Amino acid sequence: MASSPALVPDPHTQAVLELEQQYLIQTYARFPVLLRRGKGCWLYDAAGRKYLDLISGIGVNALGHAHPRILRVLREQAALLVHCSNLYYHDYQGPLARRLATISGLQRCFFTNSGTEAIEGALKIARAHGRRQAPEKVQILALENSFHGRTLGALSITGQPKYRADFEPLLPGVRFIPRNDVGALERTVGPETAAIVLEWIQGEGGIYPLEPVFARRARELADQHNALLILDEIQCGLGRTGRHFAYQMADPPVLPDIAVVAKPLACGLPLGAIIANEKAAAALRSGMHGSTFGGGALACRVALEFLDILEELLPAIHQTGGQFRVQLTEMARHFGFVREVRGFGLMIGIELDFPCRNIVEEALAEGLLINCTHDKVIRLLPPYVISETEVDRAVKLLTRVLKKVKYPPESA
Ligand SMILES: *Cc1c(COP(=O)(O)O)cnc(C)c1O
Repeated sequence: MASSPALVPDPHTQAVLELEQQYLIQTYARFPVLLRRGKGCWLYDAAGRKYLDLISGIGVNALGHAHPRILRVLREQAALLVHCSNLYYHDYQGPLARRLATISGLQRCFFTNSGTEAIEGALKIARAHGRRQAPEKVQILALENSFHGRTLGALSITGQPKYRADFEPLLPGVRFIPRNDVGALERTVGPETAAIVLEWIQGEGGIYPLEPVFARRARELADQHNALLILDEIQCGLGRTGRHFAYQMADPPVLPDIAVVAKPLACGLPLGAIIANEKAAAALRSGMHGSTFGGGALACRVALEFLDILEELLPAIHQTGGQFRVQLTEMARHFGFVREVRGFGLMIGIELDFPCRNIVEEALAEGLLINCTHDKVIRLLPPYVISETEVDRAVKLLTRVLKKVKYPPESA
């Protein structure tokens, strides 16, 4: 793949790159940029170039970089207590669990260090919940084109062969159906179903939403068979859509038995949570699950601050996201190869007629960080603090990048 000239790394970046090539297990296809610091929606590299960040560390840096209130609690708490294990109490797990329960409409939390770990825990709850009713009630229903993480359990319910193929056989008893296919849902859910796992908006899958009728039917069928409805809100939850949770967009809302969150929860510190109702939580008794790091004092305190700030930001996410999508849709009219602009709040997909990796590289050279998912979808997950001026700037930069595209591209 031809890189644009602006992507040629400076000597220091080149040295770091070579070091990693020698010593890291080569799992990532990184871009040749060495980032040093960030402020708000902007990142600065080792050569002093600046980038407008429209991907937020894949939805993690939702308050942008170096948010003053987050810095303040980080400094204060780091000097007091970072970690004490789950052998003892600290001041922040209880309040954080109460806050997550309040905003989700659910009751109890378990804290993890990542999204995939929270999914693993939710799968263990599903197993325990099902097996308590009948030994064969262990089937999990998931969606084609889904993404739930990289551990073996999470991969087992991830409906995309590219992530799974090298690691099979995975967990038995997982059935995949197409998104929004109510007929397939009705045919597949039965007495052996322990859980239905859904993303309200498929993130890695290309920003594809569930239809509320489908989700509502999943809720009914789960109830009918005493199975758990698990919503993976790791990417679409915690404000990304302008609501606390994406499932709250439906009217009336569809309440899951378990909501799983992670990415933005602690502003870049590793923290995830399983948020469960009493029924699902009752599947785990003392000793059945645990984590050494999960729910540490520093991460929980930062998460509480994040959720405080989020309250003030929710209306702006809705507003700015709307403005962003209007401008992108207008921009798209000038480019025949843009198939669709879609999304909710600040979770935006721009689907093209061809793979977008080259466009991501061009954007990088222009000082714009975007991401390509599902091969042909430009994904934008900007920080919630992005301003209208920064949205204007982003659309200008993206327009400049798309103008460089030769269409139809030679590679197509
Ligand atoms: C990112 C993501 C995960 C995995 O989270 P990690 O923190 O990378 O383990 C799971 N589900 C969804 C929907 C995600 O976007």
